[in-house]
Amino acid sequence: MASRGIETSQRKALLGDDDATMVFETSKDVNVVSTFDAMNIREDLLRGIYAYGFEKPSAIQQRAILPIITGRDVIAQAQSGTGKTATFSIAALQKLDIQTRETQVLVLSPTRELALQIQKVVLALGDYMSVQCHSCIGGTNVGEDIRKLDYGQHIVSGTPGRVFDMLQRQNLRTRNMKMLILDEADEMLNKGFKEQIYEVYRHLPPSTQVVLVSATLPHEILEMTKKFMTEPIRILVKRDELTLEGIKQFFVAVEKEEWKFDTLCDLYDTLTITQAVIFCNTKRKVEWLTEKMREANFTVSSMHGDMPQKEREAIMKEFRAGESRVLITTDVWARGIDVQQVSLVINYDLPNNRELYIHRIGRSGRYGRRGVAINFVKNDDIRILRDIEQYYSTQIDEMPMNINELI
Ligand code: ADP
Repeated sequence: MASRGIETSQRKALLGDDDATMVFETSKDVNVVSTFDAMNIREDLLRGIYAYGFEKPSAIQQRAILPIITGRDVIAQAQSGTGKTATFSIAALQKLDIQTRETQVLVLSPTRELALQIQKVVLALGDYMSVQCHSCIGGTNVGEDIRKLDYGQHIVSGTPGRVFDMLQRQNLRTRNMKMLILDEADEMLNKGFKEQIYEVYRHLPPSTQVVLVSATLPHEILEMTKKFMTEPIRILVKRDELTLEGIKQFFVAVEKEEWKFDTLCDLYDTLTITQAVIFCNTKRKVEWLTEKMREANFTVSSMHGDMPQKEREAIMKEFRAGESRVLITTDVWARGIDVQQVSLVINYDLPNNRELYIHRIGRSGRYGRRGVAINFVKNDDIRILRDIEQYYSTQIDEMPMNINELI
């Protein structure tokens, strides 16, 4: 069996092993290019892609890289873990004029961890291009940011607050900016971020190409794109094709809140088979649960957005290295974070909206791997779970006894 993978037709299609045409509802003028060699990519970038270990482009890469390179505005949706980061990173790298060190591409994402992860992917893929890519995020030294930007950065990957600050101070110069990429675009255009994004957008040259990327793109967000995108090429996924077949979804009926904790303790051995992420809905609850698990002598890590940046980075490093196996966290971790070893996601609390559900469970089952999601449901949560099930036309069964065999 290939890397504990699942050889279903959906997996094959998403990872580009099959030219299924039904997976995307694409604009008519989108071609499918099934090898990196056939994409006319510059030599030094192509070398970086293969050196990074990619052999064949995934379905979204086969469809979206070239339209972005041609300069069109693009809306690219694809299931979680199917290679969206490399999609826009490869296209952005291809478009760079490496002779100057002016900033030409700006990538915005909702969390610092994601901005850092994107920077790493860009630097890895662009390893043979002498690319400069800086992460411009809150909680870090402003002076250091200014120094790095003054030196010159081809690509900046950041969070909106710090990026806006650097734009206002004119340390991040926009004269040569060609491309704005909004990763997790629906989140970036949501209430919390929208104003900040428009502020940033107003600083960019009017000709700047706009690229939106996410696993979830609700209708109202797509409507909104008319205001700042020009005849975008759309690559969309139907709602009933959004959940991955490789991620098995279950629920445990805990009846009431007080019974969740014992249920989690009973599952601890299952959690540590590979790596697991446990989601709570508030920072306070993350702290409470972490404390309680430790009191009961279980080893767990935890992370949320009120922790100092240095600590956040240390916890990420530990978890990425596999030194910690169980991470209790908030939705700061729901989107985009890629740790291939995560095979189990627990919703200790059900998420507050349908999109978050897709993103949370998508922390497991990366690039065709197997994953399991377990939802703790109180009596009054059952309705919400059924709604999710129906909305995505998916199946969430009661957790079976042999759960360990599925991980
Ligand atoms: P998404 O943004 O779609 O959730 P990512 O871009 O984080 O997914 O990619 C998920 C994982 O798949 C990453 O670990 C990435 O390195 C890997 N990956 C992406 N594209 C390819 C490819 N063409 N071949 C092999 N692995 C890939």
